[in-house]
Amino acid sequence: MDTCGKCNKPAASTSFTMLCIGCYERELHKDVVLKKKNAALTAENERLKERVAELESEDILDWEARIKTAPPRPSGKLRVKLRYVGRSKPSGEEGDDDA
Ligand SMILES: [Zn+2]
Repeated sequence: MDTCGKCNKPAASTSFTMLCIGCYERELHKDVVLKKKNAALTAENERLKERVAELESEDILDWEARIKTAPPRPSGKLRVKLRYVGRSKPSGEEGDDDA
């Protein structure tokens, strides 16, 4: 009788390479898991590609773009007169050595 290529148990059927039922199912399970992971990665990859294309199209600079001259800002003269009203009092929040 043939034996499993992985665990040396007798191989029940020869549907795969020489494997026992347990190893065969494990291999199938691995295969399913890998396919799922692969599909997820492919989907993620597609999403990233789309996002990159989106960002690239947004980031293209139009070097020939005309920049309008800014509207003139209001201008004029201000006349002020400063009046001395004494030294401001310390806030007392820091460096309050005398208190
Ligand atoms: Zn086996």
